[in-house]
Amino acid sequence: MKINSRWTRRDFLKAACTGGAASMLTLKHKPVLASGDAAVVPTRPFGKTGITVPMLGFGTSLHVAFGQLLLRQAVRWGVTYWDTAPTYMGGNSEKAIGQYFEKFPADRKKVFLVTKSHAWNADDRTRDLNVSLEHMRTDYIDLYFAHGVGSVAELDAQTKRWAQKAKSEGKIRFFGFSTHRNVEHCMLAAAGLGWIDAIMMRYNFRSMHGDPMKRAVDACAEAGIGLTAMKTQGGGQIKTDTTTELKLAGRFLEKGFTDAQAKLKAVWQNPLIASICSEMPNMTLLMSNVAAAVDKMSLSARDMQLLKEYAHETRSDYCAGCADICESATLTRVPIADVMRYLMYARSYGHHRRAGDLFKKIPAKIRAQMIHLDYGLAEQKCPRKMAIGRLVKTAIKELS
Ligand code: SF4
Repeated sequence: MKINSRWTRRDFLKAACTGGAASMLTLKHKPVLASGDAAVVPTRPFGKTGITVPMLGFGTSLHVAFGQLLLRQAVRWGVTYWDTAPTYMGGNSEKAIGQYFEKFPADRKKVFLVTKSHAWNADDRTRDLNVSLEHMRTDYIDLYFAHGVGSVAELDAQTKRWAQKAKSEGKIRFFGFSTHRNVEHCMLAAAGLGWIDAIMMRYNFRSMHGDPMKRAVDACAEAGIGLTAMKTQGGGQIKTDTTTELKLAGRFLEKGFTDAQAKLKAVWQNPLIASICSEMPNMTLLMSNVAAAVDKMSLSARDMQLLKEYAHETRSDYCAGCADICESATLTRVPIADVMRYLMYARSYGHHRRAGDLFKKIPAKIRAQMIHLDYGLAEQKCPRKMAIGRLVKTAIKELS
């Protein structure tokens, strides 16, 4: 969307606050925003925590220049689930949130604050937590995640003791984990642990229809685990155009959605998903996502079917993160699923630098071996029939 050049920024934001600009984000039907009422994102229960969270959460890992104005507007629109990590933007994500709370201390209580730690022992995790508290100028975190879990074996007895202690000290309210790898396995196993409050997992129109994911979501719901979906746009490693994609674009345009808004709606269509964590590094995206969240129109069965068909047609362009399947088929345990995810950050999100930084964290010895390996068996085992060897070589070239 282009801002009318005759408008000043002040005019634009004023209109956005009263609904004018936001209603420009949808075409035919007029959602709540057009009525002049303040738009507030609806909330959903968050597992057995006893609290509700907004169904749209604010992801902050991609903010190059973190706008305080954006945070202010997010609070006004009820986007008060904020997700960060000490590693995001070299620590600047948490620091910017801290600056915000210093300026608007009354907003701390309105925000459900989530941060994470990569640490795998209690001392390092405590150190990370204290740094996050200091950066964000707060004395508690609402939800603390073990970051990037690939197997619940990583959540051992000492992790449980740590979580219980941090809760009893009032430093965290809830504990859980985020996962990109072996997602369904992690969710199913976590449902049996009995002490996990919440999970943030890769979940989108591509993965939501599979039986393993349906079983995992049901098990977590049964266990009272609050679920937050991420990577909801289902962007892949390869960009392809299909006729179904064209059909979808035309259909959503007719209904007044963008395809990105429709993909959010597809996820919200499952009431067991409490919230979507979405990266919104600018006001246009924030407005577009808020407009989708407050709009009451659901996707039809035909819309969902077309999304499913599109997902099927492009299935070999999207890595599902089922790391155990392909990584056990290479001699040196190359982190194939991570490499695919970094390639997605570069190609779908346009974040080449972040993708490159993450790629370079793979030990140099493994990176050196990656180019010479035979990925034939991994490709055979891959349920999506991805061209793993070619994509790994592409990643080496583009991200090194
Ligand atoms: S490359 Fe294939 S097997 Fe490996 S994680 Fe991705 S989808 Fe799963």
